[in-house]
Amino acid sequence: MGNRSERETDGRPDERGYGEGWEELRQKTLRRDGYACTRCGADDRTLQAHHVVPRSAGGPDDLENLLTICRPCHGVIHQSNGAFDDVRDDAPLFPDRTAPAPVARMRTPDDQCCSRCGTQHDDPTELVAWTDVPTPVNGRETDHLMLCKPCAGLVLERDLDCTRGAIAANHRLSTHELASRRVNAPVRPSVFASQQVAIRREPRTVRERLVDDTPLRFVVNHAGIRWAMLAAVGYVVLILVVSL
Ligand SMILES: [Zn+2]
Ligand SMILES: [Zn+2]
Repeated sequence: MGNRSERETDGRPDERGYGEGWEELRQKTLRRDGYACTRCGADDRTLQAHHVVPRSAGGPDDLENLLTICRPCHGVIHQSNGAFDDVRDDAPLFPDRTAPAPVARMRTPDDQCCSRCGTQHDDPTELVAWTDVPTPVNGRETDHLMLCKPCAGLVLERDLDCTRGAIAANHRLSTHELASRRVNAPVRPSVFASQQVAIRREPRTVRERLVDDTPLRFVVNHAGIRWAMLAAVGYVVLILVVSL
């Protein structure tokens, strides 16, 4: 189904081609999955068979390696395949709560990152969407802002524009959970945070006051810089030991 280029993985041509058994296998896949998209549950869209391990990476034409997926959601999985550019935005923002791991992805890679702290989450149930956000966001038109649960708890508590009714997720959201997790939100928003959610959390501990709330956080909380400092200290110690 669909044109040939969509069958390819990430725009790379498939040299093996789709042989005789393919149509039968595709039908088997759709039947097993109840003729519904495994990412969003849609049963009224063009349904395709998606290779979990791409054929180009040696993934077999095998029922175990195939999942039924609608065309827009197929575009979500193949972000760089231009053949899906016209339909990708039609895919729901969140995958279904029951979606299998290989297709349980947010609509875009940006949607997997919290717009306040910048943390990336591969698990969609760790993310919520603020859906009626005042536009534009950083000069970009958008209808939603993604937030991790701790940041959502903080924004809900603080931001009068953001209400519980405007927070969406792909599972039952507990206001209590969001509120209780806000203490885990980073004290300062990321420098790239969208202005609507770029709020500071009051520090609670000495470490938060001395590190997380000061420019020291750029040094101490950054793994790369931490390793570089450790290496520098190790080097100095080594020099001292050698010169003794
Ligand atoms: Zn779908
Ligand atoms: Zn966050």
